[in-house]
Amino acid sequence: MKRKIGIIGAGVGGLHLALYLNKHGVDATVITDREPHAYRDSQLINTVAHHHVTLAREAYLGIDHWSKPELSYTHHNHFFNFPEPLQFRGDFSRPSRAVDYRIYLPVLMEEFMRRGGEIEFRRVEEDDIGPLVDRFDLLVVSTGKGGFSQLFPYRPDLTPYTQPQRRLCVGLYKGVRHGEPMNVTLSVSPGHGEMIVIPTVTFDGIATALLMENVPGGDLEELATLSYAQDRPRFLATLLAKLEKHHTTTYDRIDPARFDLAQEQDLLQGGVVPTVRSTTVEFPGGKCAIALGDVHSVVDPMMGQGANMASYAAFVLGEEIVNSDVLDVRFCEKVDLKRQDRVLAASRWTNMMLAPPSPELGELLGTMGHNKALADEFTENFNYPEVQWDRISTPQRIRAWIDRTAADRAPQTQAA
Ligand SMILES: Cc1cc2nc3c(=O)[nH]c(=O)nc-3n(C[C@H](O)[C@H](O)[C@H](O)COP(=O)(O)OP(=O)(O)OC[C@H]3O[C@@H](n4cnc5c(N)ncnc54)[C@H](O)[C@@H]3O)c2cc1C
Repeated sequence: MKRKIGIIGAGVGGLHLALYLNKHGVDATVITDREPHAYRDSQLINTVAHHHVTLAREAYLGIDHWSKPELSYTHHNHFFNFPEPLQFRGDFSRPSRAVDYRIYLPVLMEEFMRRGGEIEFRRVEEDDIGPLVDRFDLLVVSTGKGGFSQLFPYRPDLTPYTQPQRRLCVGLYKGVRHGEPMNVTLSVSPGHGEMIVIPTVTFDGIATALLMENVPGGDLEELATLSYAQDRPRFLATLLAKLEKHHTTTYDRIDPARFDLAQEQDLLQGGVVPTVRSTTVEFPGGKCAIALGDVHSVVDPMMGQGANMASYAAFVLGEEIVNSDVLDVRFCEKVDLKRQDRVLAASRWTNMMLAPPSPELGELLGTMGHNKALADEFTENFNYPEVQWDRISTPQRIRAWIDRTAADRAPQTQAA
């Protein structure tokens, strides 16, 4: 049966779904407000790392254009700026990669059109929704954290915060030495914030993303509002001084003479309110609109989950569309049941990490400092947030995880 799917929004969620449907011969039309050429000179939109489960989806879609090993990173380095600093490394089983979305999304749009997919470039307004529902058998709303989320009521039971928990100062910088092999640093200055340092493929090669997650009221908060455009020397001097004090292992990698934004528009400041929404709206006649990606669940970027979730959820939705005859409210319910464990776990885990650590979480982090197997598993679980949540959602589970990995490491007694 010939079905027509409408997808509003050409972010990673909408485009991975569109390419998946195209591969399976399903008629999908993307409607989005930004043309590929509009990304080149735009302000930085995010600094997204794709974990290997997402890279495998890219390979499946035939869009793994950045698969050279030298563009990937292999592990996380953790640094806690305690009086007695804590440092440890956790390895992934397979590498991860970060590509600037101002390059990535236009390439995917062009690829979809090259394969015969249709994209309509226009802004969708609320009044357009009715006609779009009439036109398609299913309307997918993947307009990101701002757009159209009002269609889907938010879920207070799954949304513990009403304000951003971190004040972000995110930039792509030159003059920061890369690790050998390349890696991501997760640096924590207790009480002041976290910084995720990501080697990122951008317009002039690989730059370094400094994703600074600053605690409101802490010493780093002013970075979220300090203006680069108005006073570049002051911005850079203030940033360097803060990095030297709070994120010393990264500061040690910086050449102050070269340190600057890679391009003047490579800065993003602000904050994210973590929000989970209902996912389905049923219209008279039984047709539905279904939420995908950030419209469904927005997470703070600290644990690098939002885009990986949007891609995962796009595949779940795509697979169900391919295998279903009827795209009604029951269809949407089944999609939700299939994707929710991972999507909600990503949200819950991230929300937990935004709060001050419980004694058990503190113990877990301390144990990782001398238990590499535990640190590796924690790192690998960035691919599988539902597994991470199985491990850490309660103090009992954290304790059981520490005990199990300690037992795995215990010297074996020789059998008689
Ligand atoms: C600083 C930062 C760092 C991040 N780091 C990571 C990371 O490391 N790993 C990770 O997984 N996630 C990360 N994220 C989260 C990630 O960027 C988002 O979760 C993801 O990009 C959401 O994708 P989406 O497809 O849902 O929406 P979006 O990418 O926001 O796409 C929305 C699309 O809808 C279009 N649109 C919007 N309104 C309309 C309208 N009215 N009409 C037509 N079109 C419209 C937009 O132009 C766009 O094409 C980060 C986010 C930030 C801010």
